[in-house]
Amino acid sequence: MQVPFFDLKRQYETLKEPIHKALDAVMEKTAFSGGPFVDEFEKNLAAWSGSAHAVALNNGTNALHIAMLVLDIGPGDEVIIPANTFIASAWGASYAGATPVFADCDPDTWNLSVEAAEKAITPRTKAIIGVHLYGQPCNMNGLTALCKKHNLHFIEDNAQAIGATYNGRMVGNTGVVSCTSFYPGKNLGSYGEGGALFTASEDIANHAKSLRSHGATVRYYHDEVGYNMRMEGFQGAVLNVKLGYIDGWNARRLDIARRYRQEIQNPKLKMQAPEPGAESVYHLFVVTTADKQALTNYLESEGIGYAFHYPVPCHLQKAYTHLGYNEGDFPNAEYLATHCVSLPMFPEMTDAEVNRVIEVLQKF
Ligand SMILES: *Cc1c(COP(=O)(O)O)cnc(C)c1O
Repeated sequence: MQVPFFDLKRQYETLKEPIHKALDAVMEKTAFSGGPFVDEFEKNLAAWSGSAHAVALNNGTNALHIAMLVLDIGPGDEVIIPANTFIASAWGASYAGATPVFADCDPDTWNLSVEAAEKAITPRTKAIIGVHLYGQPCNMNGLTALCKKHNLHFIEDNAQAIGATYNGRMVGNTGVVSCTSFYPGKNLGSYGEGGALFTASEDIANHAKSLRSHGATVRYYHDEVGYNMRMEGFQGAVLNVKLGYIDGWNARRLDIARRYRQEIQNPKLKMQAPEPGAESVYHLFVVTTADKQALTNYLESEGIGYAFHYPVPCHLQKAYTHLGYNEGDFPNAEYLATHCVSLPMFPEMTDAEVNRVIEVLQKF
């Protein structure tokens, strides 16, 4: 039995009717850019997440860029970012003209180490970006306390953990500003590109709304250099349908992850250690193993899909050579990059497929 790493088509099959109806409604109203379907999604998203304001955008990367702008972070400023994350966590700082400063992860939870973040602080530091990697909330208590102590902004990159909780409270609404992504492969994915910025501040929400629409609050009157980062009407309509299912999908991911954790008893494999107080939504299920090639060869021979998240840490990417980092700077992030294998994890996996993954990994 083959088990795919991911299969988005299965979800579409279950949602065909409501999705086609939603897309038709957008066309009937010709509400293609922003508009009533996006407004409604913003309202529903804010209510569901318990955030005062949700600002819908055209992707998560731009949400991180806007986060920098609304917090007045720019040239001369430094932003601390975990070395092991999807590169987009760092793009926002770069786009704004600030300098990404990378820091190592904890060797067990794989999220940003509070000690490493503290060591990276300089007089130019303006913010720390906490990434909830693979769906597991980072050490929010530690990082928010650190930010408070040094008078820094705490920004959440919640692209992978929509719906996850920390101390019983949903993440993504606890920082001054937090960002998420609706890339199709994320737990809540659009049918194209999408993202959102969350904030408790009405002023920040209004500023973000102006920035996404050419720096104007009144049409054709531009207060500052703005952007075109509006969400498309189709994406708002699709996400409005899918928001009704996200809790169920996350619960199914958690079920599968619990079975993996309990039933894959194999000393050759290491799993992400739980962060105290955090409940993951398992965007990805990643393991590390000493001989990654042996594991992937074996998975291939058994027909089990896999992927790598992420094979090169941010500080060693070509795009950031000018920052002057070297191999060996962040050993935990580097170990993870060279030893990680992501296993099949999506809500539409059948029980038979979950059983098969467990059986195969047991025998490795
Ligand atoms: C997906 C992702 C982003 C970027 O979101 P896009 O919508 O693809 O631009 C940012 N940070 C992390 C951690 C991500 O996984």
